[in-house]
Amino acid sequence: MAKNFYDVLGVKKDASQEEIKAAYRKLARQYHPDLHPNDPQAAEKFKEINEAYETLGDAQKRAAYDNPAPNFGGFDFGGGFGGGFSGSDIFGDIFNFFGGGSRNAEVSRDREVRLNFTFEEAAFGVAKEISFSRIEACPHCNGTGAKNGTEYTTCSNCGGAQRVKVIKDTPFGRVATEQPCPKCGGKGRIIKETCLECNGKAFVKVQAKLKVTFPSGLENGQVVTVRGEGDRSRSGKSGDLYINVIVAPHKYFQKHGLDLVMNYSITPFQAMLGDKVTIQNLKGANQTLVIPEGTQNGAVLKIKGQGIEKRLMKGDILVNVTVEVPKALTRDQKQKIKELEATFKQSQYDKTKIK
Ligand SMILES: [Zn+2]
Ligand SMILES: [Zn+2]
Repeated sequence: MAKNFYDVLGVKKDASQEEIKAAYRKLARQYHPDLHPNDPQAAEKFKEINEAYETLGDAQKRAAYDNPAPNFGGFDFGGGFGGGFSGSDIFGDIFNFFGGGSRNAEVSRDREVRLNFTFEEAAFGVAKEISFSRIEACPHCNGTGAKNGTEYTTCSNCGGAQRVKVIKDTPFGRVATEQPCPKCGGKGRIIKETCLECNGKAFVKVQAKLKVTFPSGLENGQVVTVRGEGDRSRSGKSGDLYINVIVAPHKYFQKHGLDLVMNYSITPFQAMLGDKVTIQNLKGANQTLVIPEGTQNGAVLKIKGQGIEKRLMKGDILVNVTVEVPKALTRDQKQKIKELEATFKQSQYDKTKIK
């Protein structure tokens, strides 16, 4: 399963955002695919570094990561806030520095979608079919850009390697780096006759459909990663799909972990004498809430086991009680309450001083 992002970037858990950024830049330069062509280990490491930085580089996502949701099935549940995943932007400056748009063709990009859930879907879990666009190798030319996948010759300049070595002076010193082969434009092939389906681009944009089963207890802002469902390159290495989970609010429940929290107002008489009232759980089923005698304003009452279920765990419904004092009393009511008030003793109050 996924490595600890702090370990990946080699920083301490209490590192500042600046330290995280610095560590990321250093590692990203070290493992940049331009410096390690055809090295799957470096490519994997580069991907890991970016993945770690996408979370730790964003204070909100980092905070969510520090309090992780549990793993489920084949997905990694990272933290995160609903929007703003932008894989390429984060290291755009580094890419530019390494020679502008020279992204290794064999490193497939990750894709990102936002997906809306009702409060109930997120709480109980749901299977959803999602539709999103991604890039795949053109099936008509087998990702070559040449008609029938055959009408091309290997580039004589790079011998099909797509890239040529050059020495560059950079702000970080001299680096032996590689560039896309200028003769074939980094394709490794010279096309004799163009595939008309993709206009020689070798890739096509397709509308992919995918059924994803989400577990119970999804959090708003959570990012669900589905491995290998991002863009697909000719070599078969695929990017990942990130699903940003957006959960609609409930009309009276709020989710705190597995607990469902709600507010409930009672009269001073219910507070003093106790009562039993009916509230509905998340499935709409009636539940009895017992208000004990002497319930104080601000008390939190519990209905056990009626929260969210996740594997063998079950949350509760927590009810925040507000005692509402009636207004606009009649003369008669005031008179009766004064008579009643005179019967109370100091010992019946914990803190309040009476006359
Ligand atoms: Zn094609
Ligand atoms: Zn070439």
